[in-house]
Amino acid sequence: MKAAVFHGPRDVRFEEIDRPVLKQGEVLLKVRACGICGSDLHTYRHGLFLQLGNPLDSGRVLGHEFSGEVVEINGQVSGVEIGDRVVCVGIGANAEFIRLTPQMLESLIHFDDSVSFVEAATTEPLATSLHAARLGEATDGETHVIMGAGIIGLGILQCIKASVSARVILVDLSEKRLAKARELGADITINASDKNAVEEVLAITGSEQLHVVEAVQGNVDVVYDCAGYGKNFKGTSVLEQAMIMAKQNGKVVIVAVFEQDVTIDYNIVVRKGIRVLGSWAWTRDEFVEAFELINSGKVDRKPLVSHTFELEQAGEAYETQLLAEEAIKVVFKP
Ligand SMILES: [Zn+2]
Repeated sequence: MKAAVFHGPRDVRFEEIDRPVLKQGEVLLKVRACGICGSDLHTYRHGLFLQLGNPLDSGRVLGHEFSGEVVEINGQVSGVEIGDRVVCVGIGANAEFIRLTPQMLESLIHFDDSVSFVEAATTEPLATSLHAARLGEATDGETHVIMGAGIIGLGILQCIKASVSARVILVDLSEKRLAKARELGADITINASDKNAVEEVLAITGSEQLHVVEAVQGNVDVVYDCAGYGKNFKGTSVLEQAMIMAKQNGKVVIVAVFEQDVTIDYNIVVRKGIRVLGSWAWTRDEFVEAFELINSGKVDRKPLVSHTFELEQAGEAYETQLLAEEAIKVVFKP
């Protein structure tokens, strides 16, 4: 079968590999859509998170944001039939087929043709956004700042706007991503490549110079760090910017992954009583709820898919997802 195989940093190749052989109680899915995740990109760039790839004799098959069609069932699997359109959780979906084990089948969600395979494949990143948005607990009238308008940041925007009327400010370096944020309901966008995001946010929300500890206080209820600290990042980390923007007793939710250590003056955290919350993945219920947001039309994921590729274009697909200026979500359509 066709597959995109990861061999090392910046080296993903289209290859023919063996089609999976089913054990009793397993299901073969024809992958119809599989997104390239931020974690796949960390693997692609630096060889991180290898466990999120399915190991072969040589290389690994990445990809865990997928949907597809059931083409084979070995034995009795209740509730699953040939031809079913499904989305579920697993690894190794940058391929023509994926083997669903009984454990993976526990996360199976069926959908009809009112939802496309590509939309359904964005359930997993939306669940990640939903988990972060839950930690942020937005309520009407609050101000939330999302640092980083990639698929996760834009998904948080969608989750907030689907439930409450809070003011949401998006910060990014890409004008294309910020335009998408406005299309999806962002109230204000700031391009940090030509403006100082902290100064802009403080000017919008108001600020105060604090005493005892040298610190500035913004008026933002919750700041989401969806940018992290990349290996080549220079200057004030996004996390520190978030700490400055936050109000007294505000929250900073960290969804991004850090490629290097960040130094922070923790006196700001202490003085302002900031609640720092890490956000990783999602619960089973959130996965289902994320799918329901798509299925009910409360959240439209179509505008987030910026590129689609065939598996034959594996290298080009990964290189495209690296172009933060251009790409939002790159999806394989095997
Ligand atoms: Zn993912």
